Amino acid sequence: MFPKSEKQNREIAGVSILRHWVRAAEGKRAQRNRKSSPHTTCDNSQQAERFMHELGIASSILECVQAEAARRPNSRITKVGVKIGELAAVDCDALQFGFEVLVKDTEWEPVALELECVPRMQRCSKCAYDFRMTEFDPSCPLCGDFSTRCISGEELDIAYMEVEE
Ligand SMILES: [Zn+2]
Repeated sequence: MFPKSEKQNREIAGVSILRHWVRAAEGKRAQRNRKSSPHTTCDNSQQAERFMHELGIASSILECVQAEAARRPNSRITKVGVKIGELAAVDCDALQFGFEVLVKDTEWEPVALELECVPRMQRCSKCAYDFRMTEFDPSCPLCGDFSTRCISGEELDIAYMEVEE
């Protein structure tokens, strides 16, 4: 256990890391904006809002872990695995960071978050071939047919939890 003053310092450190992260992300965004639209000024609040989106997802994941833990009073959850499709518009680094911020200095801190990115896959309606869609071309690489449909890539699911009895 940390003495009280040291624990407070750790919390302060956590906050400054959060601010630093938002600033760094803003910098990246500003560079992108400069290239595409030089007259647009960088919108700081938009970047913070973006992180709040991932933080909200992290919070939902933690709620699922807490609900599962409540169902298993004699065991301990050590890891939660989440599947994220590339169409789900989730920044995996921001989500990982948001989860770490949420559980820091709580009883949930030992829970590891493992993210699995699921690529966008299409299935051809004509020949049933499954392929990874790249560069906005949905046509079947095998037979050339355009009637293909999305079969994965939109996931945002808890895949598993590791539990110690
Ligand atoms: Zn085909």
